[in-house]
Amino acid sequence: MRIIFIFLLILSFVRPVFPQDAKEFTNATFLKKLNNDRSYSELKSKIVSEFAYTPAGRWGEFVAGVNEKILTQKKIVAFTFDACGGKNGNRYDKELIDYLHKEKIPATLFVSGKWIDSQFAVFINLSRDTLFEIENHGLNHRPCSIDGKSVYGIKGTSNVGEAFDEIEANARKIEAITNHRPRFYRSATAYMDEACASMAARLGITVVGYQVLSGDGIAFTQESVIKENVIKNVVPGAIVIMHFNHPEWNTRAAMEKIVPELRQMGYIFVRLKDYELTSIKNH
Ligand SMILES: [Zn+2]
Repeated sequence: MRIIFIFLLILSFVRPVFPQDAKEFTNATFLKKLNNDRSYSELKSKIVSEFAYTPAGRWGEFVAGVNEKILTQKKIVAFTFDACGGKNGNRYDKELIDYLHKEKIPATLFVSGKWIDSQFAVFINLSRDTLFEIENHGLNHRPCSIDGKSVYGIKGTSNVGEAFDEIEANARKIEAITNHRPRFYRSATAYMDEACASMAARLGITVVGYQVLSGDGIAFTQESVIKENVIKNVVPGAIVIMHFNHPEWNTRAAMEKIVPELRQMGYIFVRLKDYELTSIKNH
């Protein structure tokens, strides 16, 4: 009897997440649950009062507090792929991920809460894949702003509380599903203000931008153009930004050209978590 009890107790802690659990973790349900969780709501009130008089600071992709590269002189490159979610962003580029597998290319995947909601089973599989690390691309894929700034027609978060939810709720959602709290955050569109960057740091989260813009996000950019963008701008420690939620774009075709060329140049591919990051402004 006792053994059965202990077994059930252990099982209750290690119960794996299944695709059928998706409903428990949708943004709406999960945020409601977090708001009833004291550790979350108390931290949120604390942050809201701490940042009540903090100026937003600069708004952009390369503001203070953002890391755009790995601190190294070695010929290493970090490929980062975003999954943004939302009406036009909730697909999965399986061929790209298959290619990374085939070539054994480690990569960092930034996922939004919205994308997780539309690709829950895929997300679980990716999170169990040791080739990849899963990181935070925001709960609702809203650029992080404490005063409602917009970019490319995408409205940012409106205030400190919303900015907190955008960063921290998605970190907790990813942790709840994968048992692993993401250590990095990339704001939707990579635009953010400096107050958001300080808030992320306060939450123990490192903000990541990019040094090399592949340009795959400008829909239907030709693979040769994406390749040139990467090859021309690559430097030791570069973080390259791409996407894995648009199979109709040319990301995979471009990667098939980029990877052999970078290898020939002597580059090897790494994940962010294994290195110290820095800002291009420091170098
Ligand atoms: Zn995005």
